[in-house]
Amino acid sequence: MTQKFISFTLIFLLGLGTYAQSITGFKSENAAVQLELESQFESRLKAENLDVWMQRLAAEPHWVGTEYGKKNAEWMAEQFRSWGYDTKIETYHVLFPYPKIRELELVSPDPYTAKLTAVPVEGDPYTAQGEALLPSYNAFSTDGEAEADLVFVNYGIPRDYEELEKMGIDVKGKIVIAKYYGSWRGIKPKLAAEKGAIGCIIYSDPEDDGYVRGDVYPEGAFKNKTGVQRGSVMDMPLYPGDVLTPGYAAKKDAKRLDRKDAPTITKIPVLPISYEDALPLLSALKGPVAPNSWKGGLPITYHVGPGPAKVRIKLEFDWKITPAHNVIAMLEGSTYPDQWVMRGNHHDAWVHGANDPVSGMVAVMEEARVIGEMAKQGKRPKRTVVYAAWDAEEPGLIGSTEWVEDHEKELQAKLVAYINTDSNGRGFFGAGGSHTLQAMVSEVADAVTDPQTGVSIKERRIARQLAGGGNANFELSALGSGSDYTPFIQHAGIASLNIGFGGENAGGEYHTIYDTYPHYTRFKDPGFAYGVALANTAGRIVLRMANADVLPFEFKQWHATVSEYLKEIMEETESRRKEVKRHNELVARKAYALAADPRENIAPPNKKEEIPYLDFSPLQNSLARLGERIEELESLSPESLSVEKQKALNEALQGTEQILTDMTGLPRRPWFRHRLYAPGFYTGYGVKTLPGVREAIEQENWKEAQEQIGILARTLERMDQQVIKLIGLSK
Ligand SMILES: [Zn+2]
Repeated sequence: MTQKFISFTLIFLLGLGTYAQSITGFKSENAAVQLELESQFESRLKAENLDVWMQRLAAEPHWVGTEYGKKNAEWMAEQFRSWGYDTKIETYHVLFPYPKIRELELVSPDPYTAKLTAVPVEGDPYTAQGEALLPSYNAFSTDGEAEADLVFVNYGIPRDYEELEKMGIDVKGKIVIAKYYGSWRGIKPKLAAEKGAIGCIIYSDPEDDGYVRGDVYPEGAFKNKTGVQRGSVMDMPLYPGDVLTPGYAAKKDAKRLDRKDAPTITKIPVLPISYEDALPLLSALKGPVAPNSWKGGLPITYHVGPGPAKVRIKLEFDWKITPAHNVIAMLEGSTYPDQWVMRGNHHDAWVHGANDPVSGMVAVMEEARVIGEMAKQGKRPKRTVVYAAWDAEEPGLIGSTEWVEDHEKELQAKLVAYINTDSNGRGFFGAGGSHTLQAMVSEVADAVTDPQTGVSIKERRIARQLAGGGNANFELSALGSGSDYTPFIQHAGIASLNIGFGGENAGGEYHTIYDTYPHYTRFKDPGFAYGVALANTAGRIVLRMANADVLPFEFKQWHATVSEYLKEIMEETESRRKEVKRHNELVARKAYALAADPRENIAPPNKKEEIPYLDFSPLQNSLARLGERIEELESLSPESLSVEKQKALNEALQGTEQILTDMTGLPRRPWFRHRLYAPGFYTGYGVKTLPGVREAIEQENWKEAQEQIGILARTLERMDQQVIKLIGLSK
């Protein structure tokens, strides 16, 4: 929260040429001390360490369960210990499928057997490790065999199936082929199975990350014709983590679901392939020509099918319980040891993972090194700082989810905030997270210099927004899913952030054998300047959260953001209503039928159900009340608060994010408990804000929408009670 004493006044210290600036959460006499501490921290960060450590961590493939992955965990634990951290490795026992049989062939008209192997390239010895490289596959595809006509479904997302329906094409009993991108990959087989398909192939089209975008590896950063993106297709929007232990830790002797009952394993076999392997399949399709927006970058006319291309797919996995090793390193706080600030990044990769995840992991380590060494010299953070290196993130956020499920009660009582990073590269500062932290992150972004232009990372980011036609506000995006912050914010209700740099680091190496040290240092972040910028930014956030007099949560920006989400949903409902009305009028006068080309077999659409009026007033009333209360809170200055009151205020602030969650969770997915943010049920990583209400409207479930409005209004009323409490403690 922001207090009155925190304005942006600059107090110039005459004659010294330095100045003290107010910062959120710090009493005026402590702000200058904090800024001095942060600049010492910054001056000790070394790019060379990131470089050396990346070469070590990414020397060999290290997916969960590998010997090298374990060695990496042990080596990192040793480093943390040497920097003064109390460090342990916490191991969970999780289901992880390794591919035994991968077969894909075009049976007719002209037989072709997919190669399913990426080739080594000159100048990158890592790509020549042969057998040691993990075969390309989608983790948590079911075992299975299928043979059927092929249908091209574009990205395989809901609106593509609407388009297919208009073309009169059904995927029931067929095998679909979808392009990567357009949504998180796990949505593609999920939706295909719901529509009755019996197999799913996902390929990388050159338009998305191959030769259409730029030169391919090794000449350039993009995907060559043999590159294949691996990745999990676990149904993470239902619940992430170990598929056999939903909601509780996968300890050695934990009670496990039977694999056939695990709801997050796909219903149909799914396999990723390269564009070299996709080309013969797509060329053999006939049927209608694909809509313009579906066409990719291959030198063919894209047809939709079904058939005459007939394909056979066969997959079998070795389903093994595998150890996942999380490294947890703690530095006890000098003043408030029972309040924790946590930083994390995953350490497992699909193959070498120089970019994903090592580029983020080495920045975390450098940050931890400097904070640890400064603590040894008497500058110990006031709150306890916890560093984590997660295992098994790639197959489904497994290491972090099991750890959070294991430690949930303690985290809810102690953890102030979780700050996540993952892949990192050259470009612009990006941040998502709890909107109570927006003001603090914005101030930190003012203090960090962009390595290429010399302006602050905030100024550079705002410049990009403006140049792209956007506004000049610094805003956090809302968190959906896609990295290890998910169990913290969505399940345990811990205020969380996910930060990183990017936008000038494009490439096609993601989850392929080409994500290596040579690729990274040539194309992603030469010289590790943005790795250091990341350590600088995240380290300052950790130090501010750890040393603040009053925890730096701010509620005005939070309130404005939630109000904006509500406005958006109300406007969307209104525009849907108008659309349906117009659609039904056009159907009534047969406009679609008459406008269509009579030679194309396009089925005219049917009338849609009219949209009823929803009563949003409980939300509007709650937000209005809350807004006034927050005005009062933010006008109070706890500058002269007693030590006891300050302590009580901090304790109350610590658990505030949990007010926004409840144990019943979202409809049909109780693991997701946050009422403001969730990954979309049909978007995967993509966030849905006010998800209970928004998704009910999108699914046209009006009864549930009205119920969810009531539930959300009660959440906001609980927040109102919390703000009343905070006001009492601030006086
Ligand atoms: Zn990652």
